[in-house]
Amino acid sequence: MAIQDIRLFGDPVLRTPAAPVVDFDKELRTLVRDLFDTMRDAPGAGLAAPQIGVGLRVFTWWVDGELGHLVNPQLRLSAEQQEGDEGCLSIPGVVADTPRALRVVARGFDEHGEPVTIEGSELLARCIQHETDHLDGILFIDRLDKEARREALKAIRSAEWAGLPGPIVQVSPHATHGKGL
Ligand SMILES: [Zn+2]
Repeated sequence: MAIQDIRLFGDPVLRTPAAPVVDFDKELRTLVRDLFDTMRDAPGAGLAAPQIGVGLRVFTWWVDGELGHLVNPQLRLSAEQQEGDEGCLSIPGVVADTPRALRVVARGFDEHGEPVTIEGSELLARCIQHETDHLDGILFIDRLDKEARREALKAIRSAEWAGLPGPIVQVSPHATHGKGL
């Protein structure tokens, strides 16, 4: 078991596009284990490799009791959208209604290099989009409209983990159901 430190907003690794995995080797399998361990410890619904400081296109999820991982994902999104709360383990305490595609078909590979296709809707679809964004250096606050984004940035600035004293402000009044991603 190897729980890694989760990188927080402001760390440049979160804004750096990750590289495709080329070698499906023992190190990749160790990375996947570390992602699982760190995600379950947090706990979170998903975790992408850049969030533990590794610039590779790998993420894990833990949604509706199902654990999964995907390497080098390629997404196909439904035109139909969903609304719902979203948060991020790298931006603790900040939650906002974030528009996402309702359904996703994700093609990629497992840790052994075998091709896999994951179909998800609702929370799993949201999670897969959120984690794939991490691989492109995109954060969920980038998906908000201008006003909501401004509120989120304000909450980040006043968050204790950002190095300043102040209360952690919830942007959305809705329950988060522990959906850190
Ligand atoms: Zn996240």
